[in-house]
Amino acid sequence: MNVEHWDAVVLGCGGMGSATLYHLAGRGARVCAVDPFQPGHDKGSSHGETRIIRKAYLEHPSYVPLLDRAYTLWDRLTEESGRDLFVRCGLLAMGDRDSRVMQGQAACYAVCDLPHEVLDEGEIRKRYPHLGIGRDWGAYYDPLGGFLRVEECVRQHAQGAQERGATLYVGESMRRWSIDGQGVRIETDRRTLQADRIVLTMGPWAVAQLRALGVDARVVRKVLFWYDGVGIQSYGLDSLPCFLVGPEKGEDTFYGFPSIDSRGVKVAEHNIFLDDRVDEPKELNRALTASDEPVVRQFVDAFFPQLEARRTHHAVCMYTMTPDEHFVVDVHPEHPQVILAAGFSGHGFKFASVMGEVLSDLALEGKTEQPIDFLRLHRFQRGAI
Ligand SMILES: Cc1cc2nc3c(=O)[nH]c(=O)nc-3n(C[C@H](O)[C@H](O)[C@H](O)COP(=O)(O)OP(=O)(O)OC[C@H]3O[C@@H](n4cnc5c(N)ncnc54)[C@H](O)[C@@H]3O)c2cc1C
Repeated sequence: MNVEHWDAVVLGCGGMGSATLYHLAGRGARVCAVDPFQPGHDKGSSHGETRIIRKAYLEHPSYVPLLDRAYTLWDRLTEESGRDLFVRCGLLAMGDRDSRVMQGQAACYAVCDLPHEVLDEGEIRKRYPHLGIGRDWGAYYDPLGGFLRVEECVRQHAQGAQERGATLYVGESMRRWSIDGQGVRIETDRRTLQADRIVLTMGPWAVAQLRALGVDARVVRKVLFWYDGVGIQSYGLDSLPCFLVGPEKGEDTFYGFPSIDSRGVKVAEHNIFLDDRVDEPKELNRALTASDEPVVRQFVDAFFPQLEARRTHHAVCMYTMTPDEHFVVDVHPEHPQVILAAGFSGHGFKFASVMGEVLSDLALEGKTEQPIDFLRLHRFQRGAI
């Protein structure tokens, strides 16, 4: 049997894999990727039209240096593609001052020198009279926030990689990999590949790999909703930034996007404790269930008082959660030929550009200058960051 030999093979060409393929090919590596679906597909975690990108990072300030680099690389991809991949419409983080959103933003601004405006309830009402807000809410306006056109970003990374000489095997799955001498042998359902390095970027399909490394990861079903209706003109790009809202003390968070097309505003909840667990990603239930919409609908009716909201569309997607909600990006502890990036915990897409660069560093040089220590596997041995 003919066995193809590669410098690196990327397993999974979604958000992270397409960016990795792009950077590896850009550095002259002989590289291919394997994925059962076309770049920009809607079966994993990188679909649904848009993803929020923001600089002030409520999840942890350690992400901010990575975001600096991610912004530069997204700008570069946008320029190279000639497409409107990154829309800088600003981001409004708002809500109850004891909500996770407001507490997290405050903690980040306390240690990172990032541009922002602080708004009290009166100022929010003055600037955004078309929003329904609660008593004593506060807000931080992040002028660097905005959104990425998610499927288009994946397609542009994959296309840019192919233009730089990468090969993409679509319509086939990795079945197994094994260490073979200094390299790795990969069997897909159509061929056998040999590589010096592999990069595993399989999103929700990486849970078994994470568990084998002692990370108690889980996949959670998440639903996105779009609403149009009379009054939608008050919620377009010219009058509404992206938003993250913690309406009450605690974890409950809603987020969304201004209306950019005939589907209207896009809104979802991000409470990872509302745990709709997925045992097998390929059997994900994509139909709406009775309990999916009510909590979002209630938020929409309160937050958009001028919108007679009518649901126009929904999409079902998956979060891959780690126990501490931070990513896993590392070299395999036993096999230095294997690089793993997974567990992006519902907030990873904005980092895909820089992750592509980091994973290429790890694959080609075994190290990176980007500050990823807080994302490495060892934290699960010694406790969370
Ligand atoms: C509803 C929702 C909203 C989100 N909102 C935001 C947001 O606003 N901002 C943000 O930054 N992040 C957000 N995220 C998180 C972000 O989208 C994900 O963290 C990111 O897209 C994950 O990318 P990935 O490459 O790990 O996974 P994927 O993009 O799913 O890629 C995994 C790939 O592996 C492939 N694969 C599977 N099995 C195999 C196999 N056997 N062999 C080869 N390939 C295989 C799959 O086909 C897929 O293409 C959101 C996620 C969801 C679900």
